[in-house]
Amino acid sequence: MSTESVNPAVDAAVTAPPAVAGPLGSGAPVLAFDVGGTDTKAALIDDAGRLAEVLRLPTPHDGPGTGDAVMRTIDGMAAGLRAQHPEIVPRAAGLLVPGHVDDDAGIGIFAENLGWHDFPFRDRAEQSLGLPVSFSHDVRGAGEAEHRLGAAAPFRDVVVMAIGTGIAGAVFLDGRIHTGGGMAGEMGHSRVADGPACACGGMGCLEAVASAAAIARRYNALTGAEVHGAREVLARAEAGDDAARSVWDSAVDALALDLSHTVALLAPEAIVIGGGLAQAGPALFGPLAEKLERILTFQRRPVLLPASVGENAGVIGAGLRARDLLAAAEATS
Ligand SMILES: [Zn+2]
Repeated sequence: MSTESVNPAVDAAVTAPPAVAGPLGSGAPVLAFDVGGTDTKAALIDDAGRLAEVLRLPTPHDGPGTGDAVMRTIDGMAAGLRAQHPEIVPRAAGLLVPGHVDDDAGIGIFAENLGWHDFPFRDRAEQSLGLPVSFSHDVRGAGEAEHRLGAAAPFRDVVVMAIGTGIAGAVFLDGRIHTGGGMAGEMGHSRVADGPACACGGMGCLEAVASAAAIARRYNALTGAEVHGAREVLARAEAGDDAARSVWDSAVDALALDLSHTVALLAPEAIVIGGGLAQAGPALFGPLAEKLERILTFQRRPVLLPASVGENAGVIGAGLRARDLLAAAEATS
């Protein structure tokens, strides 16, 4: 890029578009799907690793029929992306869903907010898309994007946490993801207080105290207000609202307590935090680091870092996994 241009507008008009690599780098074109509790995202990724297009639709909530409804949504999005970009021919797909997920069996075992039980997502997606499909948990997929391309990349022992509607994490030990049969990283359901009740059936789970949704819910229950998110609670706390301050501080206390357990057990070099709550920036990271420091004694101090891949980390992680699948197939053929 020239920094000496007399007239940058003219330069831009006469210069061919640069061959900019996308976030994934060069590789096979793939489809990527990230099914969240609220929205489902779909992306078509080209051979330069660019997200040619990202679609977003509400995730269907259809009780016991939710698995089938999610598949119809995905199939419709895939058809739309393929029709819009016939020049990009995907060779594999990556699919991420929330809840308890068996990556190896390709099954969504259970999702408390979405209602499916033992749904064979990978087989169904392979049939309807006509492609090999890599299947995993949404937070592990986004965590892999963060570990390969983002803030977690410099570290071999690192935990990537997402704090949004729920709380979960991806655990990397010696550079490899640890899935624990699909159950690792469920720190959202470790007990940090005597209450309130959690959707999982437990009491005082981290997620019931400190998720973005819980912070808004607890403030509303305490005051009769109707704030819609943790951001509003933080704004009120900063404006001198004592109830908002107490809810926010107790959430950060609970997070620090939970992180201290993670540190004691795994001694990660870094903990990377993404999701809606991480948008609070220094208002979260400053007090969290201070409170964690107060709890720890001799343990290794992890660096606390905000996630850096951004809102498309899920589909980017799904795309990386889809390419891995092709690479593994080529290596064994
Ligand atoms: Zn729970």
